[in-house]
Amino acid sequence: MDYTKIFSLEGKKALIAGASRGIGLAIAQATAAQGADTVLAARSADALESEAEALRKKGFKASTASLDVSDSASIQACAEAHGDADILVNVAGTNVRKRFQDYTAAEYDHIMQTNLHGIVELTRGVGVRMIERGGGGKIVHIGSLMSLRGLPFLSVYAMTKSALDGLTRVLAAEWAEHNIQVNCIAPGFILTDLNRDMWQPDEMKQWLAQVQPNPRLGTPADIAGLSVFLSGPASDYVTGQLIASDGGYTTTAKWPFGPAA
Ligand code: NAP
Repeated sequence: MDYTKIFSLEGKKALIAGASRGIGLAIAQATAAQGADTVLAARSADALESEAEALRKKGFKASTASLDVSDSASIQACAEAHGDADILVNVAGTNVRKRFQDYTAAEYDHIMQTNLHGIVELTRGVGVRMIERGGGGKIVHIGSLMSLRGLPFLSVYAMTKSALDGLTRVLAAEWAEHNIQVNCIAPGFILTDLNRDMWQPDEMKQWLAQVQPNPRLGTPADIAGLSVFLSGPASDYVTGQLIASDGGYTTTAKWPFGPAA
């Protein structure tokens, strides 16, 4: 192992699904900075193009792809066009916070299609081509702390993210013979457009500081390095894992006791 290249993605092509902003954009920026030929995919064509252009200006390899994970034709076209990807990072996701009994059928379908069914179809489309090429590969899903904890008013979202966790383990087993590693990142509370309103009240930030050892909100950059690790040679012996980057939220608890006197 050449340790100077242990996190390098040079010579690899990466497809980042859901890269127009937030966590996916940070992952795309970090992936390109490590040398991968990086395809930023999502629905917002203008945002994608300006972010890809900014990366190219820095001397990195970056291009864009149109992708709507709620549209089978769009998924198939993207998988076809970028079936030569060595790395697939599935970031696209959405959420609607509601009581379980209040979700409409349309809301339920929208979350399921975006966070789960579309990601499954894209993973199958790209994964089949990875297998055919025989060069191995890396698949990184973006799950959630909701794959691990039960916070209220996130039932449908939790169902989709828990399903990705299950898919991660089974695909890691099935595709090991093709040298494809499959892992899932569970981001904690990361400030993005998805939840900016939720984190406005001071009481939310105070609550976080009371329950989490690292008391700050996460940033998209807090997820990017883990995705780079799971996309490259440093993680060749890591597969089927759900790895949290969450300031310790899912693994620790604070309590009022001090050390023994
Ligand atoms: P965000 O800023 O709202 O970004 C969401 C991304 O997903 C955008 O690039 C969006 O692109 C893309 N996307 C949404 N619907 C899509 C569709 N139908 N087809 C293609 N792309 C689509 O949210 P984020 O916080 O970065 O979330 C990214 C992922 O992290 C999600 O899977 C989310 O569940 C997960 N996550 C976030 C947190 C957090 O605290 N923020 C915590 C745990 C997990 P377009 O709108 O341009 O299509």
